Amino acid sequence: MELFSRIDAHVHFPADTSQAQQIVRDARLKVVNVCVDDQELGGVAAQRQWYRALAITQPELFAWITSFDLCGFPSPQWKQRVLEQLREDFTGEGAAVGCKVWKNIGMELRDPATNQWVFIDDARFDPVFSFLQQQRKAVLMHIGEPLACWQELDPASPHYGYYSTQPQWHWYGRNDVPSHARLIASRDAIAQRYPHLAVVGAHYGSLESDLAEIAARFERYPNFFVDTSGRLVDMALQAGRDRQKVRDFFLRYSDRLIWGTDPVCLCPLSQMDEQTRQARQSQAQRLWAKEWRFFATNDELNFNGAKICGLALPETVLKKLFVDNARRIYVGV
Ligand SMILES: [Zn+2]
Repeated sequence: MELFSRIDAHVHFPADTSQAQQIVRDARLKVVNVCVDDQELGGVAAQRQWYRALAITQPELFAWITSFDLCGFPSPQWKQRVLEQLREDFTGEGAAVGCKVWKNIGMELRDPATNQWVFIDDARFDPVFSFLQQQRKAVLMHIGEPLACWQELDPASPHYGYYSTQPQWHWYGRNDVPSHARLIASRDAIAQRYPHLAVVGAHYGSLESDLAEIAARFERYPNFFVDTSGRLVDMALQAGRDRQKVRDFFLRYSDRLIWGTDPVCLCPLSQMDEQTRQARQSQAQRLWAKEWRFFATNDELNFNGAKICGLALPETVLKKLFVDNARRIYVGV
């Protein structure tokens, strides 16, 4: 299968140098930068500026997905500010193609009056979802986490590196936190409540460990999609156990899956020291190459020490996964 021009619909890759842009071009990609309400990634305000500027100056290489922060939630001023910001982000040159919500909703946010957890299906977010639906903008929802978040640290898990270094997000043994099921249900509730809103579950909708659970939601909610970002190893290890099952899932739901990879940069590449910049660039290049080989070829690839055969999906499916679904769901990408 010859490499064709593709859309990576989930990156955090502020490639504001000509070298980094050439790398994106050489990989035959257009990338969709995703804003995250996370100070570690620069905060929403800064990311909006980086990513929109790239979409304006290099529209053939970059699109972007906006987000909003929770400062002042749930005051009327918060609501008004968020709606005004989204309207601005969706208007004019370099407009955003969607809006992201992050796991801090459901896993961090507390009601200032009651100190109770606030979930994404809380009615106080309804004005945002109504607006997105009315604007025909997709919502990319990273709600919840992989099950590994609630499980004991396991060096064999693809998530070991993350949870062993991010203890604030590792909830094993805690009984004072919401369950995986509660968080997934809060996301499902939005797909149900807004049937004309395209709801994209990031990272296979935090259900990467159970394809049947994803399939059940595809059947239940025609407006539900998932992106594949950041979960290549999860999917490859499952293919190592049962390649046919994983392959069948991709064939059956080829209209509902959007390819993304999720490389993470904490600041624009021009602001990194040379060593970090080179490392981030080659990481992204390696990831793009390996993802393609896994989905498009039957090459034997190394994942966590295991040799696993790629899925060799047919060209019609690859075109949907790598291009057409993103174009249809993130209108204007
Ligand atoms: Zn991401």
